[in-house]
Amino acid sequence: MRIGFIGLGNMGGPMAANLAKAGHEVRGFDLAAPMPEGVTRAATATEAASGADVVLTMLPNGAILRAVAAEVIPAMEPGAVLCDCSTVDVDSARAVAAQAEAAGLGALDAPVSGGVGGAAAGTLTFMVGGSDAAFATVKPLFDIMGQKAVHCGTSGAGQAAKICNNMILGVTMIATCEAFALADKLGLDRQKMFDVVSTSSGYSWTMNAYCPAPGVGPKSPADNDYKPGFASELMLKDLRLSQQAAESADADTPMGQLAADLYRRFVEEEDGKGRDFSAMLPRFSARHRG
Ligand code: NAD
Repeated sequence: MRIGFIGLGNMGGPMAANLAKAGHEVRGFDLAAPMPEGVTRAATATEAASGADVVLTMLPNGAILRAVAAEVIPAMEPGAVLCDCSTVDVDSARAVAAQAEAAGLGALDAPVSGGVGGAAAGTLTFMVGGSDAAFATVKPLFDIMGQKAVHCGTSGAGQAAKICNNMILGVTMIATCEAFALADKLGLDRQKMFDVVSTSSGYSWTMNAYCPAPGVGPKSPADNDYKPGFASELMLKDLRLSQQAAESADADTPMGQLAADLYRRFVEEEDGKGRDFSAMLPRFSARHRG
């Protein structure tokens, strides 16, 4: 396939490299990032997109996606598919898809989970919104870049799945960290806490697979001085997106709101920026009630 890839940063770079390695013809465009091996540099986003069967985007946010889409859609041939893999707001995902479909293109929102490690290893999970036909066209590429692609529904369904998942993740991480900090103050050994909770009804991915307490459970960023991993500011970005979606859909999400507030304080007023989102544990440990 001829592929245009726009946004070759920490995630997009290795994703594009895997497509090139699998034998696809990939033309890339990024404002700053270097071209990965096997990817031909295009001078503009339009040049990367013209003549492509599929254009993939992996960009920082919805405003940038909208701007790039407005530029590349007129350059794409009818029947080609625009597939955005960034994490953006549901409204931007739907607006871009509508614009693409009005121009005779297929459109997918296909955000990912799995992080930079999953992008490099080709083991991402894609959650995808859009038509059956567009999904079928891009599925062979999802299979190269990832281990699983779930077709969640029509436009915006992929972003909806992503932000709902990450809202649960943010809320659960906070609950796990505050429970550890409480256990500390009650004199409970952290390993014992893990042994009980990881096999009891309080278990979760944040406890069992990504334990925020150093030296306890499987290896996680807590064992590496809370270097990300998944940075707190990215968690904050996703919690803001889930709150924005909740507001636009008139959904009541008080725990999501509280998690967004706590990560905002952690990132903007405390020492959370650049630290893994599990560094909420030392934050709670250092605090007192009230
Ligand atoms: P990044 O900042 O490393 O990469 C974004 C790239 O987009 C940069 O190289 C930047 O130069 C480029 N860019 C910005 N504006 C552009 C434009 N107008 N035209 C062309 N290129 C442009 O970010 P990342 O970590 O690769 O994340 C990309 C997306 O993936 C984000 O939406 C993020 O939320 C999502 N995501 C990231 C992770 C992660 O662990 N890093 C995990 C899942 C999802």
